[in-house]
Amino acid sequence: MRIDVLTLFPDFFDVLKGWSIIGRALSDGVFSLNAVNIRDFSKDKHKRVDDYPFGGGPGMVMKPEPIYDAISSVKSDESLVIYLSPQGKIFNQELANSLSKERHLILLCGHYEGIDNRVVENYVDMEISIGDYVLTGGEIPAMVLIDSIVRLLPGTLSCEESYKDESHYDGLLEYPQYTRPRVFNGISVPEVLLSGNHERIREWRKCQALRNTLLKRPDMLNKYKLSAKEKEMLDRMKKSK
Ligand code: SAM
Repeated sequence: MRIDVLTLFPDFFDVLKGWSIIGRALSDGVFSLNAVNIRDFSKDKHKRVDDYPFGGGPGMVMKPEPIYDAISSVKSDESLVIYLSPQGKIFNQELANSLSKERHLILLCGHYEGIDNRVVENYVDMEISIGDYVLTGGEIPAMVLIDSIVRLLPGTLSCEESYKDESHYDGLLEYPQYTRPRVFNGISVPEVLLSGNHERIREWRKCQALRNTLLKRPDMLNKYKLSAKEKEMLDRMKKSK
């Protein structure tokens, strides 16, 4: 996968190069990342990229021409142009899964009051929000997308299976995790995890994943298709509450 980020702050993305799993995926060639400075496309002698909003009002708006030229400089038939915006579709694991199948993402980061709407309406394929709140720029949302998408690409995680057990992948939250020591401050890890009985461990984990979801995110169970066995587990849990 190739990712181009269009931003006024390209240095912001340097941190990804040396950053843990994503940095390794980058150096292993699992994906390529190119931060494009929108300011480089300004034809203004002062390199201005923003101007006052038509109609008045506070703040500045990013001008359309440099953004259009920045998009055109990297766009091909395979590109999906995403504008990070608080007005977009709310990002979730399902969207991360589907974007991880794309070949080329162009992530457009706004700043100030946002970008001229003629760009949004005519040159953007999708608007994505990372939540119902407003940030100062699209750089942190772009990083959120990059991290969540890149970890799904083959070759990023050492064991490909590991993301499939995680929260949200199949519509449930993950089961609780424990590591050494067996007893910490007098609190033991659940005995079943030390039993070596893989079938019992699998069953316990499924049960705990259902329990976690029921307690922390019951709304997720409205969408999840329960198997007969899972339904039985859940009914038992609700009765014993
Ligand atoms: N005036 C805009 C509005 O009310 O919809 C908000 C502009 S915001 C201050 C500046 C930039 O930050 C946006 O252009 C967008 O790129 C980014 N941004 C802010 N909040 C975001 C969110 N929740 N998700 C994704 N991007 C966001």
